Amino acid sequence: LIGLHALSKSYGSHIVLNEIDLEVSAGEVLAIIGPSGSGKSTLLRCINYLEPPSGGTITIGPTTINAAQPVSRVELSSLRRRVGMVFQSFNLFPHMSVLRNVSLAQERVLGRSRAEADERSMQLLSRVGLSDKAAQFPGRCSGGQQQRIAIARALALDPEVMLFDEPTSALDPELGLEVLAVMRELAESGMTMIVVTHEMGFAENVSDTVMIMADGRIVEKGPSAEVMRNPQHERTRRFLRAVH
Ligand code: ATP
Ligand code: MG
Repeated sequence: LIGLHALSKSYGSHIVLNEIDLEVSAGEVLAIIGPSGSGKSTLLRCINYLEPPSGGTITIGPTTINAAQPVSRVELSSLRRRVGMVFQSFNLFPHMSVLRNVSLAQERVLGRSRAEADERSMQLLSRVGLSDKAAQFPGRCSGGQQQRIAIARALALDPEVMLFDEPTSALDPELGLEVLAVMRELAESGMTMIVVTHEMGFAENVSDTVMIMADGRIVEKGPSAEVMRNPQHERTRRFLRAVH
């Protein structure tokens, strides 16, 4: 479903992503772990072109984008529509109701009517356990609730893949758990997911595949149980010792 080939990103002379090759199949849940500054966020941001890569190709479903060539608006919007993203900070619109937060992009991007969008939003809010918050403003919701709203908002565009960048690291552990529960359910429903996380429990128990990054490269990647319990590379062992 997703293929990255020789994906690179540099800021000036600083190589942040060094020819990343990666395939993620439909329904796969990939956890990305690795030290700070290793390029994890940059990789996610390149996949949906929030950052233009310096080189390489990105394939999502039938669309391939080559970083060496100019990208049209049509290609970009078709790519972004198929990729949902959830960040560490929730970035909800504070002056709009929870329902409106989830509905707005459906009207703007997918051309749904307000009634259609609201109906879909209510389904998704109930899926993340928040149908009773629809009329509230986000500021009245806890951090965990806001992050679940952000997940509902991303799902509302019916993406083929969901990218998560440390979705629980700004939350108290207890609130992080409600978000992780929603993510686990999403994984079990067959969603394709790429999750940058510091939650070793998620990496080990929910994801199918774990990938360790360091210095802009993939150090190791494999079935999650194998990588977490029996890492092959010294760099991985060092990282896992440091976080456990
Ligand atoms: P963390 O675990 O701390 O979130 P990360 O693995 O997500 O780290 P990135 O945010 O991808 O790391 O950053 C990788 C490297 O790229 C870092 O050295 C960072 O300083 C650099 N970098 C990221 N964004 C920019 C930018 N806009 N301009 C210059 N350098 C950048
Ligand atoms: Mg990061």
